[in-house]
Order: sequence, then structure tokens, then C-alpha cells
Amino acid sequence: MTTQTVLVVNSGSSSIKYQLVELGTGAAVASGVVERIGEPTGSLRHVHGGTTTERELHIPDHGEGLRRVLSLFEVAGPDLAEANVVAVGHRVVQGGMAFDGPVLVDAEVERKIDELSALAPLHNPANLTGIRVGRALLPDVPHVAVFDTAFFHHLPAAAATYAIDREVAATYKVRRYGAHGTSHQFVSRGVAEFLGRDLATTRTIVLHLGNGASVSAVDGGHAVDTSMGLTPLEGLVMGTRTGDIDPAVVFHLSRNAGMSIDEIDDLLNRRSGLKGLTGHNDLREVHDLVESGDEDARLAVDVYTRRIKKYIGSYAAVMGGVDVIAFTAGVGENDDIVRARSLEGLQGFGIEIDLERNAGRKKEPTVISTEASATTVVVYPTNEELAIARQALDVVRDR
Ligand code: ADP
Repeated sequence: MTTQTVLVVNSGSSSIKYQLVELGTGAAVASGVVERIGEPTGSLRHVHGGTTTERELHIPDHGEGLRRVLSLFEVAGPDLAEANVVAVGHRVVQGGMAFDGPVLVDAEVERKIDELSALAPLHNPANLTGIRVGRALLPDVPHVAVFDTAFFHHLPAAAATYAIDREVAATYKVRRYGAHGTSHQFVSRGVAEFLGRDLATTRTIVLHLGNGASVSAVDGGHAVDTSMGLTPLEGLVMGTRTGDIDPAVVFHLSRNAGMSIDEIDDLLNRRSGLKGLTGHNDLREVHDLVESGDEDARLAVDVYTRRIKKYIGSYAAVMGGVDVIAFTAGVGENDDIVRARSLEGLQGFGIEIDLERNAGRKKEPTVISTEASATTVVVYPTNEELAIARQALDVVRDR
């Protein structure tokens, strides 16, 4: 039998990222990205079998983008007709209270994703567009929606509830939904398996540090807290987002700086975080600035790692201890300075990393704590595409 594959699609407002995942090995048979959809010149990049095919052309909309992707599969391979594609897995950012796991897409599911756009105005409409054009172009394959919020659907009420007027919260669905759930689930399970630990008795803190960043507390395989809230703005300091901030900053700027709500939204989501502090959202550039003696950059790394440390402390407290800390995503996997600084001085809490083990970028799961450390600290590379592919398979297998 040919091995089964899932086509994973992550549709953004002006981009479509995709990967054809082989389920047996977990390998990406092909991957690519369509960018600058709707702009005068868009681009396509398709990678298969060590060959990269690139195109620059006007791509008016997502439908045309995906049509181009399918024709790239025809020209550059692999042949989708022979790839045994059992499902198309679509990443959807906001599942709200409607979805606690992946689902087969039908008209009703599309309607609910659309309805949830109020909570994720930048993401859900784009995700839905990807689903619609995908279903139109590949009508014979089942399409599965995999939600970024699903892993946090059953957060304890005390973690999900904001202390605001209950009626306002209920009417406007104001609560903590979390994000990056697919990654937090994948890493918390994977790391327990890697360490040979029983998931049921393991308390894990997962630090997903990418351009967006979030942390979760996972007790016995269940998410019991997470740092992103109603939207991905809350929590850790990120590439361009503030993370936690006094909400009164919004009133202050509105009243005194003459900024509109949309301007403040843009400031907090796209012009803050590392970018706001240093002018750069990429930690590699921030570290270069530190090397050259830039004080703002030094402060930015302090602010960034202090926030991580505070979350580690609070989540350890929430779970009554922590057995495993897992670092993942672009920063978590590659940045040994951030890992070391975030855990500095925590020996008294039984958390101690080995600087030699920690050194360098990690492509494979790697233990970086000392033998004496009560908490095992691991770098565990995430693979959201594989996680989406597996969840999609679970849905179509059960049909
Ligand atoms: P996204 O949230 O866009 O999926 P990623 O998980 O790919 O992000 O992480 C991207 C971020 O990872 C970059 O902005 C950069 O800060 C960081 N990063 C990537 N490679 C390195 C590296 N070698 N050293 C330090 N940071 C890195």
C-alpha cells in the first residue's frame, strides 16, 4: 500500500502556506508558500525532492493562489493523484466554545468559523477562505478543520475566566481561549514520550517561543493554564506584541495621545514587543545589537526573559510543582541565550540547566538540564504541520 499523506493548509490574510505530510514517516514530501496575495506582484515557492521552484506573478486572490499551488504540484511534483491524499487539514485559529477538537468541514462548520470571526478578525476570515477554495478545488478529498484553541477548550474555569462583569463576558464571549494549542499539545505529549514518562503523572510547562509566543501548563496531559487569552496579545513578550500590559494603557493613549482604537491595536500587536523596544522583532538581530553594546537591546532581552521566568514561577505554583519544562519554536529551539537567561537563578526551585548541553541550536529533542535538576528541561522541536496532519487523519479514519 502506498503511504498515506495529508495536505496541510495554513491560509493567512495574504498568504497560503502548505505542506504535504507523509503520515508514516512524518516527513514533509513537499512544502511551499504563496505570498503577497492581492498585491501587484505575488510570489510562490514550492519545495520537493531537494528542488525549489519559484515564481513571481500577480495572484489576485486565494482561489488563484491555490490553483497555482496545484499546478506546481503537477509541474514540480509530487503527483497529488498518486500521493494517496486522505485529507486536507486546515489550520483555523479561533474555534471559540464551538470546537474542542478537529472536525470534518461541512456548511455548518464553515458557518460557525465565520461566526467566530468577531473574536479573530484577522485570522478566521482568511482561514475560511482557504477552506472554501480548497473544497472547491479538491472536492473529492475530505477537508478537516484543526483549531488552534481546541487544546485549551477545557481549561479549568478559574483559568479561562476574566474577572469582569459576568453578563458582559457572556454576551460578548469574553474569556481566555488560548492559541498555539496544536503545538502545546504536540510538544507536551511528545516530550513525555521522549523522556519515557507517564503523561498522566507529568506536570509540564511548554514554552512556545516563535515570533508569536505563548506558555502553557499541562498537568496529566490536560492544559490547566495558558498565557494567550481572548486573543494572542496576552502573555509573553513577543516579536511585535506587548504581551501582558495594564489595560489602562489603552485608556491613557486614547485620552491623551489622541490615538484611535485601531491605532492602539496596531501599536500593541504590531509595533511593540522586541520590535517596539529595539526596532527589530528577530532575536538574532537583537543579540547582535547587544553585542555591539546597545543598551535598549540589552533591556529588551531582560524584559523578554523576565516575563518567561515569571510565567514559569506562576505555572509551577498552579500545578504544585513542575516535572518538565519544554522549549520549542524558532526562539525556543535555537536561542541558547534566551533559554539560559529565562531559567537563571532558579536552582532553589529545583530547575538547573547545564550550559554545555544548552549551547547551540537543537534540531532534535535534547535534555539541557543537569543531572541534579529536579525538573527536566528539554528542547523539543515542534511540528505543527505533522500535528495537524495526524489530527486530520484521526477525523477521517473515524468516518
Ligand atoms: P512563527 O511564530 O512565525 O511561526 P517561528 O517559530 O519560526 O515563528 O520563530 C521565528 C523567530 O525565531 C524569529 O523571529 C527569531 O526571533 C527566532 N529565531 C529563529 N532562528 C533563530 C536563531 N538561530 N537564533 C535565535 N533566534 C532565532
